[in-house]
Amino acid sequence: MKESKPLKTIAEHNFYISNLGIETSKTGVACPKCGGELWYLGEEILLCDPPRRDVGCEKCNYLTSILC
Ligand SMILES: [Zn+2]
Repeated sequence: MKESKPLKTIAEHNFYISNLGIETSKTGVACPKCGGELWYLGEEILLCDPPRRDVGCEKCNYLTSILC
């Protein structure tokens, strides 16, 4: 089966731009607020114990961090 990259929606595009202007990637984790998908915000890993990464929801702009 050939894997094709789906096109971004406008909401997704705007979400990229509004978060440091760099492409984010999906976490596969659901937003606890609206049930949408959370995205990683940049590549930065928060050096706490255990390490975490900032994530945000493209639908409701919920921001949090998850373990990585
Ligand atoms: Zn949400």
